[in-house]
Amino acid sequence: RAKGEGGGMHREYEPSLHANAEEKRQLEHSLRNALERDEMLLHYQPVVDATTEEIVSFEALIRWDSADHGFVSPGKFIPLAEDTRLIVPIGTWVMQEACREAADNWPTNIKVNVNVSPEQLLETDFSATVVRALSDSGLDPKRLEIEVTESIFLRDASVARNALEECMALGCSVALDDFGTGYSSLGYLRKLKFSTIKVDRTFVQGAAQQSPESIAIIRAVVAMADSLGMTTTAEGVENEEEAEMIRSMGCTKIQGFHFGRPMPRDDVAGVFTRRAAEQRLKSA
Ligand code: C2E
Ligand code: MG
Ligand code: MG
Ligand code: MG
Repeated sequence: RAKGEGGGMHREYEPSLHANAEEKRQLEHSLRNALERDEMLLHYQPVVDATTEEIVSFEALIRWDSADHGFVSPGKFIPLAEDTRLIVPIGTWVMQEACREAADNWPTNIKVNVNVSPEQLLETDFSATVVRALSDSGLDPKRLEIEVTESIFLRDASVARNALEECMALGCSVALDDFGTGYSSLGYLRKLKFSTIKVDRTFVQGAAQQSPESIAIIRAVVAMADSLGMTTTAEGVENEEEAEMIRSMGCTKIQGFHFGRPMPRDDVAGVFTRRAAEQRLKSA
């Protein structure tokens, strides 16, 4: 309980804060050992063409199955990993793993999307990490799309931009993730030739609830992306009604539970086998 002594603002006991700090310390300790304990894995979520509904890509999404804490969501441990710079080795592992999976087991027309945190761009030779992942796996650079959020422009924008431009020179593409949620400034769109703008789920939800603002914003982002030569992906589409609305607004691609949840890598193979069988039936 906070106690004002002599008008001071010193807080003596704050049990909930203390518990959080202790929990965070334990989590950090476990996170340090997570890679070597083999506790990290990737799930993959399909991204489909809005018109044909064909899968064009899978986004790699990290999962942590901790021996100490059970399943920990990325929403919880990614910020911690970013604070402690553990995101650098973790991010390198994600890049290696995702490129290898796509190169070894997926059709060559399917891309892989990999999320990258600002710390990875700022504190390491990021493009060297990408070069290594590509050469170790043999993945065609054109099949790799790097996802970043607007937060990369908050600190040392030119370092981040250079790193991403080096990747683009290799043939990789870069998507702007969670667009509209952060510190959105349209100026960012001038600074880097993104291939795709990912419209955040909150707008999709808003549009589904007939929010005129959300609908207007999605339409405007689609129009803007079009004139900039960028595509759009709507995130978090959960049902056919939302898919239909997103299609009518002209988004290029759709991602969301309606077309597939994030799934373990073995399930991805099943998706391809099923799709191939459907194709054979159609053409028979
Ligand atoms: P994100 O990159 O925007 O990924 C999309 C998130 O939305 C994923 O959450 C996904 O499971 C969820 N999602 C997809 N479709 C739907 C839907 O229809 N409805 C709802 N309610 N949710 C949907 P997830 O896997 O929990 O990841 C959360 C965030 O953690 C990601 O957001 C990304 O920012 C970060 N993240 C995940 N993997 C990595 C990684 O390998 N590296 C880095 N740096 N960040 C990662
Ligand atoms: Mg993403
Ligand atoms: Mg996103
Ligand atoms: Mg999002």
